[in-house]
Amino acid sequence: MAGLLLIGTGGTIAATATDTQRLTDYQVTQGIDAMLAAIPGATDIAQVHCEQLFNIDSRALRTSQVIRLARRVRQAADDPAVDGIVITHGTDSLEETAFFLHLTIDTPKPVVLVGAMRPASAPSADGPLNLLNALRVANATDSCERGVLVVMNDSILAGRWAAKSHTTRVDAFGADGLGILGNVCDGAVHYALRPDPRRQPVLPLAGLRSLPMVDIIHDYQDAPLHAYQAAIQAGARGIVVAGMGNGSLSTAAERGCAQAVRKGLVCVRASRVPRGTVTPKASDPGLGLLAAHHLNPLQARILLRVALAHGWTPQAIAQLLADQ
Ligand code: ASP
Repeated sequence: MAGLLLIGTGGTIAATATDTQRLTDYQVTQGIDAMLAAIPGATDIAQVHCEQLFNIDSRALRTSQVIRLARRVRQAADDPAVDGIVITHGTDSLEETAFFLHLTIDTPKPVVLVGAMRPASAPSADGPLNLLNALRVANATDSCERGVLVVMNDSILAGRWAAKSHTTRVDAFGADGLGILGNVCDGAVHYALRPDPRRQPVLPLAGLRSLPMVDIIHDYQDAPLHAYQAAIQAGARGIVVAGMGNGSLSTAAERGCAQAVRKGLVCVRASRVPRGTVTPKASDPGLGLLAAHHLNPLQARILLRVALAHGWTPQAIAQLLADQ
């Protein structure tokens, strides 16, 4: 019988604190089998096969582990015995994994990331219901062909658009409505939106063992130049500037990028502002700069790393950024 694959990677959803009143400062303690077993009704949804890929805070995830996770998802998506995949994940870097999977995995089957903002020991832990909802979403035929999904706090979000926007609240993802495709209520999965079909082919996982270094440099008034020089010296292949407003650069950022471009790095103008697009400027091509368009600095960095790993030219990367 077909069923769901539940991959555990750790995070707050798998964590407990020493004191039940404590909602921060906790440790990952729970395995994925125990987490599933503790949720009444979870295994009535579908046959669930658990796999513990790792069990750590998402702040500690390394690129090699994210690539390993993506390979496992790719393999499971090709397996006729798997109808859908759920990944438990720390919320701190969940959006980075979601965007990496969005770029590299193309499957009609549901791929759902889920986390929690409160540890399992909290009086109103959000993990059990989030996980139950994620299993329901992964098991729903209506979730097919919607790309990588994130389920948190009753909302179903597009992994392409998911971003954490609060440090501790349970509505840390999607509270501003950005990226919400639907919701889960009383166990029923409802969709209002379907993401546009991707305009770009997936970036293959084949051949990816590691990814080149790309730094994000935050820009601000009277910023110094040394961060750019350090990135160049450290061997970065690209720099994403989290610039001001519509990707405006301070004098140091302009000079730093000019030095980096001369050394062969690819430089992207993104924005430190959480919402909105960074539009291309007439001066960009002459300066060797690329606009991040609709991608935030974290997403632009991931795209740049994967594209550089595949040997894409700056011109091709410019188009890839524009098409996201
Ligand atoms: N420390 C956690 C993490 O692994 C935070 C969370 O999951 O909410 O990202």
